[in-house]
Amino acid sequence: MESNGKKVLLHACCGPCAITCVQALREEGYEVTGYFANPNIHPVTEYFRRREAMQQVAEKLDLPMIWQDDVYDLPGWLKVVHDFGIADNEGYARCGYCYESRLALTCAVASESGFDLFTTSLLYSRHQQHDAIKRIGEKVAGSGDYASENGFGSAFLYRDFRPYWQKGIDLSKEWGLYRQNYCACVFSEYERFEKKLRKLG
Ligand code: SF4
Repeated sequence: MESNGKKVLLHACCGPCAITCVQALREEGYEVTGYFANPNIHPVTEYFRRREAMQQVAEKLDLPMIWQDDVYDLPGWLKVVHDFGIADNEGYARCGYCYESRLALTCAVASESGFDLFTTSLLYSRHQQHDAIKRIGEKVAGSGDYASENGFGSAFLYRDFRPYWQKGIDLSKEWGLYRQNYCACVFSEYERFEKKLRKLG
């Protein structure tokens, strides 16, 4: 595919979700770099598994990566959720915080590193609040908070990757990737298995 001359930083929430996002962006001629920054993946052993799956995807796709492991802080993440009173996720406030924190990190790194654009594999998932992710991405990019020293701020690249849902699942199975069965935070794990728990008595 002929290059369109634009560099995009793709926030990758996990390997399986990132596959078709990378492929679709490359089809459009973008030069793609992956960015793994996910302080919301609990517990830390789960973080290792998803990081490893992302590494496998990066190798398969020959995708350059930026790894941001230093933002992983489980106690700090839980404290913010507790202090904001958003653990119950009423009005998707917890997810909103989760999206914004990761998109703000992505925007900051993209701006400082000279990327024209940034986007996220969260836009691939049928289980996420798609419109909220789009709105937050645009808000973060438009805030001006993440302009580099040269006054350069990366723009948010909105794409609806959801039509690639089945293709991404098929490829992740074919490649033998680890596929998680809950979103990421400890609350989502609880919500995923709560019914099973209640059936116990
Ligand atoms: S359910 Fe998923 S998107 Fe929502 S707060 Fe938890 S990890 Fe983040």
